[in-house]
Amino acid sequence: MNARLERISSDGISMTQKARILIVEDETAIRAGLVDVFVYHGYEVDYAEHGEEGLSKALSGLFDLILLDVMLPGIDGFEICDRIRAQDRQQAVIMLTAKTSDEDIIRGLTLGADDYVSKPFSVTQLVLRVQAVLRRSGIGDTTDREIRLYNGLLVDTENLSADGGIAFTRREMDVLQYLCSQAERPVPREELLIKVWGYASHMEIETRTVDIHIAKLRRKIETNPSNPECIVTVRGAGYRLMLADESEAK
Ligand code: CA
Repeated sequence: MNARLERISSDGISMTQKARILIVEDETAIRAGLVDVFVYHGYEVDYAEHGEEGLSKALSGLFDLILLDVMLPGIDGFEICDRIRAQDRQQAVIMLTAKTSDEDIIRGLTLGADDYVSKPFSVTQLVLRVQAVLRRSGIGDTTDREIRLYNGLLVDTENLSADGGIAFTRREMDVLQYLCSQAERPVPREELLIKVWGYASHMEIETRTVDIHIAKLRRKIETNPSNPECIVTVRGAGYRLMLADESEAK
């Protein structure tokens, strides 16, 4: 199974370690089931039963991925996600949301979760989703350090930032960099899920995850988010990144 990540130690030696997952879930039966499943799949697993414990473990920096229930006693999953993102924009977060709640899904992704899984969930789909989110795209390793967008905004891909104190999550930057590598071709959502999120073709496709990430990116980079000119929607074809015309650069 794909539960091992390459890591570079402080002295630059590459080592292989089990990926570490934190499960934050207050319902005992679900939590115990999730722990069993991920231990079985070769992950190193820890868990938290309530919000306070979940938050302090999540902020410890010890985990590669956090499976985060929304409804928790004490601090809820949204606040935990928000606090994680304030401290760490690289860490992977998957929210566990109620099936019927579109609001929860949108809010979780807007706060910086990488993806979501609706309850009740299929364990197989959840494991696939976790594997996908942990699979680093490697997109950031091959493209330019800086991206100059159509409106002139300069994006620093290594520092996950842009002019004016704009900060991106790892996933948002992967989206930008993938679109940039395909510029100026429109990229279908399904292709983004496969290339950036690591989805496989047999997984349930959640295009909403892509749309919400794009909406969030637009709020950060567009001069007027309701009339986007950097990430444009090409009807029936996907999203297209518009770059500054270098020949017109000042
Ligand atoms: Ca709960």
